[in-house]
Amino acid sequence: MNEQSSAKGRWLWAVITILFAGSPLVMNGAEAEGKRPNIIFVYADDHAYQAIQSYGGWLSEYAPTPNIDRLASEGMLFRECYVSNSICGPMRSVVQTGKYSHLNGFYRNGQRFDTSQQTFPKLLQEAGYQTAIVGKWHLKAEPVGYDYYHVLYGQGPYYNPAMRTPDGRVEHTGYTTDVITDEALKWLKSKRDQDEPFMLMYQHKAPHRNWQPGPEQLSLYDDVTLPEPATLFDDYAGRAGPVKNQKMMIAKHMNKGDLKLRVPGDLNETQRYPWNAAYRPKNEAFRQQNLEGKELVRWKYQRYLKDYLRCIASIDANLGRLLGYLKKSGLAENTVVVYSSDQGFYLGEHGWFDKRWIYEESLRTPLVVRWPGVTEPGSENSQIVSPVDFAPTFLQMAGAEVPSDMQGRSLVPLLQGKRPNDWRESFYYHYYEYPGAHSVRRHYGVVTDRYKLVHFYREGEWELLDLKANPKETKNYYGEAKYQEVQERLKTELKRLQKDLKVPADQTKLY
Ligand code: CA
Repeated sequence: MNEQSSAKGRWLWAVITILFAGSPLVMNGAEAEGKRPNIIFVYADDHAYQAIQSYGGWLSEYAPTPNIDRLASEGMLFRECYVSNSICGPMRSVVQTGKYSHLNGFYRNGQRFDTSQQTFPKLLQEAGYQTAIVGKWHLKAEPVGYDYYHVLYGQGPYYNPAMRTPDGRVEHTGYTTDVITDEALKWLKSKRDQDEPFMLMYQHKAPHRNWQPGPEQLSLYDDVTLPEPATLFDDYAGRAGPVKNQKMMIAKHMNKGDLKLRVPGDLNETQRYPWNAAYRPKNEAFRQQNLEGKELVRWKYQRYLKDYLRCIASIDANLGRLLGYLKKSGLAENTVVVYSSDQGFYLGEHGWFDKRWIYEESLRTPLVVRWPGVTEPGSENSQIVSPVDFAPTFLQMAGAEVPSDMQGRSLVPLLQGKRPNDWRESFYYHYYEYPGAHSVRRHYGVVTDRYKLVHFYREGEWELLDLKANPKETKNYYGEAKYQEVQERLKTELKRLQKDLKVPADQTKLY
């Protein structure tokens, strides 16, 4: 660690401490003594906000999230956190850099992150923070900017993961969500310097496809019939061509592994026994029913969603272990805990699983922040925020400078209960991974609190969505006379955002 920059970080923090000395909400015990907060960034993979109880909605009553809900009741819940490119690797690169895909160079999964560029963990190190990442990294290159890393190779399996460390490959036995938590706790307890502030990225593989539950959740929800979303049997009437021509339908595109009609390959013999005991009778009952048509779709939906929620139950229980340790060790008081996911996910809405689209369920991602002494417990925020804001936020929390080339904006004022007058009122979205898994065509668009204007620019097709008139996003109003003025206004705003964000004018040249 660079001693000079560490001193610079402390100096900056001292200035901030003086600046906010008059604000009782900002200061509390540890901070008043000039101690910078620790940051734990909990990141799930594909965790839909619909599957968190505090977000409310059609499924929330079944969401197994008491610990995430506890964080929300002790902190702030953001209702409108929008991702800029709804897929794993690209959003992780956005978080690292505070920049959109077209500037950080990571457009689609499978690319290698350019670790030579500016990232927030590097800047935190310069500011005197210890940085660590445990769990999913998913950016191919060796992690840079971390004093410690213990990460999955690629996606990683649900059971018995091998993990990458500076000392080489480490083999683990157990359920990956548990393993990641064990390793995060080990670092917190005994592998870090107890005298310096830290930033820990605690990042799960779950609940990513193919949604394999842990040993303790194999039978959870067995006696329950989960509710169905209103658009499970969406017919896509009147929608743009790409909406109809995707490959992410529960009805058509789930395989036997997704549906647990075969035993996953990553289980060892000991793990296979409880797995088979749980799934065999359920699968036998399914086969005897010979379901067809809508009833078959309904069965697939129940199987999918139960497994998905089982994975989340394990994430939440493990988060509970981590929060328990923070409390017991006294760290909780001066540690910011952030819960989020790399993007949202379809839980049967429009008949889909997966993500990628600008539409609600994959655009919006959960964001809950507990910052003792700063965020008002149980508060909610409805401003448009984004993971592009995370890097500037972490830097400001640490009292470090936010570089002017970052495109996001620090959420610290919002966390303090203020709303800057010039906060964004529209948001730019851009998805690139086509050709690719699930065949979602490239599109960009602008999002406001009410409308979305979407351009499938290779097909030359547009959509205009009105969330007020049609919250389930089943209608396309593009070209309707009634929407002419709104449409023109949104086109102008789209162009403005593309210019401001330095999106290359020639889309064919992107990656
Ligand atoms: Ca993801």
